[in-house]
Amino acid sequence: MNFLIMGPPGAGKGTQAEALVKKLGIVHISTGDMFRSAIKKGTEMGLKAKEYMDKGELVPDYVVVGMVKERIYQPDSVRGFLLDGFPRNVVQAEELDEMLKEAGLSLNAVINIVVPHEKLVERTTGRRICRSCGASFHIMFKKPQTEGICDNCGGELYQRSDDNETAVNNRLYIYEANANPLIGYYRAKGLLLNIDGDQDINKVMEDILKNICA
Ligand code: ADP
Ligand code: AMP
Repeated sequence: MNFLIMGPPGAGKGTQAEALVKKLGIVHISTGDMFRSAIKKGTEMGLKAKEYMDKGELVPDYVVVGMVKERIYQPDSVRGFLLDGFPRNVVQAEELDEMLKEAGLSLNAVINIVVPHEKLVERTTGRRICRSCGASFHIMFKKPQTEGICDNCGGELYQRSDDNETAVNNRLYIYEANANPLIGYYRAKGLLLNIDGDQDINKVMEDILKNICA
């Protein structure tokens, strides 16, 4: 089974993806995580991507498309995958269709997490990420057992450099400019599942599972 999870920054895509891939035994492909990992390793692509990410802008389509294509062809993807953070616009969606077609694959559903705009700034600015395993926490809504320490692996929690109010507002603006055409693209294909993301984290998961298994 191959899925895509979409929604604005802070909607809860990463949080749900982390649990969903464990439950379904599929691979999590997060373009944001891939860029953060490239930055950590100091690769040329990572350094270039950081310039866009810190300002809350999209990394150019050709860079992200090439990176996803390479990832989808890795052998573990045959277990099924959950794409998170890609595609971000219709050009990327068309490129994804093309690469899936070439690989003889298709999407089973597109999970669209819907959260009111006014909740997204507090979700993103309060987010904390584990430096080692990438797990996501929140200073109010998903507190780690020990402040600053990851519950999963004991790693150090940090705040993403693009989770400040200026970059978040830019990311929300860019999301909103691209969201309707992208949502329309997948609705027309009959793949779109709208999920209310403004609920308890476990309830959101329940709704996702109910919908993808329906
Ligand atoms: P995204 O991947 O869509 O940007 P995340 O999954 O990282 O979003 O979630 C953003 C922040 O909001 C994180 O700090 C996370 O712990 C918190 N969060 C996720 N889902 C919920 C929810 N349903 N209610 C409250 N906070 C949430
Ligand atoms: P995310 O972790 O999904 O919030 O993404 C963090 C940042 O990585 C975004 O603000 C973009 O700068 C970049 N990024 C991630 N995915 C994409 C994509 N599909 N297209 C362009 N830029 C992306």
